[in-house]
Amino acid sequence: MVKAKTWILFEGFPKENNFELREEVLPELQDGDVLVEAVYLSVDPYMRVVKSKDPAFPEGCYVVANCGWRTHTVTKAKGPAGPILARIVSEWPSDISMSLALGSLGMPGLTALYGLEEVCKIQPGETILVSAAAGAVGAMVEQICKIKGCKVVGSAGGDDKVAYLKELGFDQAFNYKTVSSLEEALKNASPEGYDCYFENVGGPFFTAALKNMKPGGRIAVCGAIANYNDTTPQMCPYPHHEIITRQLKIEGFMVRSWQHKDAESIKRMLKWMKEGKLKAKEVVTVGFENMPAAFIRMLKGDGLGKAIVKV
Ligand code: NDP
Repeated sequence: MVKAKTWILFEGFPKENNFELREEVLPELQDGDVLVEAVYLSVDPYMRVVKSKDPAFPEGCYVVANCGWRTHTVTKAKGPAGPILARIVSEWPSDISMSLALGSLGMPGLTALYGLEEVCKIQPGETILVSAAAGAVGAMVEQICKIKGCKVVGSAGGDDKVAYLKELGFDQAFNYKTVSSLEEALKNASPEGYDCYFENVGGPFFTAALKNMKPGGRIAVCGAIANYNDTTPQMCPYPHHEIITRQLKIEGFMVRSWQHKDAESIKRMLKWMKEGKLKAKEVVTVGFENMPAAFIRMLKGDGLGKAIVKV
């Protein structure tokens, strides 16, 4: 009999006393089932297979799984909405932490890679702008741009974050919360304009970015974090004028569209990391019982890097 610990979040904005730790007995494995044990957790948990009745997931293999905040889970590899388990590439080097499969070498890293290669199709010598640049995706956008010989400008919401961006190697970085004009700040950072914009935030930043695009510029719309909690949609003033006169190409994308390339892409990024071309920052909290505290710290923006819980 295997027991699982699981965190339950009640309604409302997450506070530590809105979570309850429960224990439950797991069902016996049926054909096609896999019992996975959490090793590292984030919003997207990373786990190891303890027992298996699915030949594609032998016991002992490591997977990235979408199972919630739980120590153990019995699941099939695929649910009605798509894959629940994905095996971590078998060539993972022993000197690179597997927790990076949740961050730089996982979904956020792949989002940066596909947004730049498949959507923007960046070319050496081009100037790329990225917002929320100190986040998990933004930091990878910067490093991939540098690997590909581009100039890169980033914005973040704090002087400590801007210092981190400069340490990472951004050509220009600024604090969007303290500039008097976003449009001017973008112009000062790259007077000749931007070939590509990797859009993470939406809101007024998007309008300011449109006005600084070069003719024929490309915009990869990855996220709109400034708009996610809006009850009334924000309107971008006069976007059509900028889009038409600058002949911009704007494309939204989902990282899962290139799932078939994930294994090969992760191997490429692992190689860059081995060569010292990619760096990753993590904020690691130890202990499953500390998961709500780690989550709340992440929501408050404490710490630079991907928030991970080591079970
Ligand atoms: P992070 O949590 O690492 O970064 C989020 C950052 O966004 C915050 O730290 C904060 O940084 C900034 N932010 C928060 N609120 C605002 C606001 N109102 N205005 C401007 N900036 C704000 O996020 P990720 O790097 O994981 O993700 C980045 C974006 O990519 C998100 O929009 C996410 O939804 C999207 N995404 C899209 C995917 C896809 O397939 N399309 C896949 C994965 C992610 P600061 O302090 O600098 O403001």
